[in-house]
Amino acid sequence: MTLKELRRNAHNRLKEQPNISSPELDADLIIMFVLDLKKDELLTKDISVPDALAIEVNAYLNRRLAGMPVQYIVGKTEFMSLDFIVNKNVLIPRQDTEILVETVIERYKNVSEQIRILDIGSGSGCVGISMARYLPNSVVTELDISEEALKVAVLNAEKNLVTKQMNFVCRDIRDGISDLEPKFDVIVSNPPYIKTDDLLELQQEVIEYEPVAALDGGDDGLDFYRIIIKKAVPKKGGMTAFEVGIGQAGDVADLMFKAGYRNIEIIPDLGGIERVVLG
Ligand code: GLN
Repeated sequence: MTLKELRRNAHNRLKEQPNISSPELDADLIIMFVLDLKKDELLTKDISVPDALAIEVNAYLNRRLAGMPVQYIVGKTEFMSLDFIVNKNVLIPRQDTEILVETVIERYKNVSEQIRILDIGSGSGCVGISMARYLPNSVVTELDISEEALKVAVLNAEKNLVTKQMNFVCRDIRDGISDLEPKFDVIVSNPPYIKTDDLLELQQEVIEYEPVAALDGGDDGLDFYRIIIKKAVPKKGGMTAFEVGIGQAGDVADLMFKAGYRNIEIIPDLGGIERVVLG
């Protein structure tokens, strides 16, 4: 079979499943992964594909048809124009989260002293690692309750050449951070924020494949904001910045104000949704 035929067949197979929102792109990602091709090679090369590889492509397409997110199938994704390894132990980095990272980078890019950053609930490490990458004088601590997630973050730090700037701490944030000295200039988090009752309304491929501990924010979705605001206080004059879910910005801003934060700002994403709260 030629590459062109393989591609056409793969597109058609995924297009049959109405729940797959980007069938062509997903099929292309799978083919590029199996055949080890870059995008321009996929589009221009006219090669014949060995049967064994065509069979492998079909096996991965079957996983996609069964609902597995394409990022878990190929084991990687892009965030802030950087490559990140992902597996079932970490949430897949979302483009929605880039505004959180961009906001912090924008505010600290002209700071010449060392910037100490703590990323709580770091998952794949996408938030902290991209900050380390774009703020070369930052030192970033990735904190997560999951040892398996931290293993992924360690690999991602290596992949993105920032290992020297990184520390990794495995703990429940409920245990606080008073031993992590000196205090942090920036505390950042994209915590789990889905209301427990709403978890079942998520897309099937989210709830079935992504780690529920990375999604479940408790009865009102705000559990982790309360815990983080109470347990992790930045240096005086420093900043805490959160990603929030749709409709949560006002509540999170209130929690921060009551805890003594000032200069609180709510920042919308490109779609106009209030996405970041900082103070
Ligand atoms: N910090 C990681 C991310 O933004 C993980 C977030 C989470 O698991 N809630 O993707």
